[in-house]
Amino acid sequence: MVFFNLMRDYHLHTSYCRHAYGEMSDFIESAIENGMVEICFTDHIPLPDGFDSSHRMAMEDMEKYVGQLRKLRQMYPEISILIGIEADYIEGYEKFIEEFTSLYSLDLVIMSVHFIKDWPNNQWVFSFSYTEETLPKIYHEYFTAMYRGIKTGLFDVVGHMDLIKRPNHPVLETNREDIEMILDAVHRQKMSIEINTSGLRKTIAETFPAPGIVEMAVKRGITMTLGSDSHIPPQVGFQFEDVLRETGKFPGLKLARYQKRKVAGVEMPVFMG
Ligand SMILES: [Zn+2]
Ligand SMILES: [Zn+2]
Repeated sequence: MVFFNLMRDYHLHTSYCRHAYGEMSDFIESAIENGMVEICFTDHIPLPDGFDSSHRMAMEDMEKYVGQLRKLRQMYPEISILIGIEADYIEGYEKFIEEFTSLYSLDLVIMSVHFIKDWPNNQWVFSFSYTEETLPKIYHEYFTAMYRGIKTGLFDVVGHMDLIKRPNHPVLETNREDIEMILDAVHRQKMSIEINTSGLRKTIAETFPAPGIVEMAVKRGITMTLGSDSHIPPQVGFQFEDVLRETGKFPGLKLARYQKRKVAGVEMPVFMG
């Protein structure tokens, strides 16, 4: 089955962020091969004071990152190339995020919660395995941080929304109210939610967020984007057809196209035999 005109991968990492492999041109060629009409590079934002510097771009890389992508746009006219960034929401960094993202003419800013202020183990989101707290409380703290991030108005798309989930502990079972709070906030803020397929490559074996949450978002009229969260070129568009086949069953699914941090259009899946 082919999905006409919908293959836009809005979540790609390159070697610029020091833990992904492959040059930008390798990702572009893989995208063309895998049937993408558009891709958005979203390497990890640099953070002040060398915070988590081994997993993100350096401050001085950002000019190169943007400059190189502008050149590649000329070299590959057969595919649309967007310039984006995956920005961490961490309480206390709001001013920095606001200033940094306004310095460049970006197409898309994904908001991700990878770190939570005052959590153990360098505030890493998976620190909870080192605490005594119960999972629903940990989920709640994660979604509370996400809610704060959404309310800042500094971001366009919520990345891998239920990244925190552990196998056999579905967040909807214990934290439905948190999910509803997030979806309502996203809707009010006119943001989109990403369907991130990287979970399908991991033990959790489902998308971020889970299909049940995608369905709730679609019901509320929230627009979605697709992201493979590729860290190597062959992952571009990872399992998009399967995911579209499933989520396409939710009536009213709308995929947002972005440009210069605005929704440039909304598309519904078109199934072709
Ligand atoms: Zn991420
Ligand atoms: Zn990512």
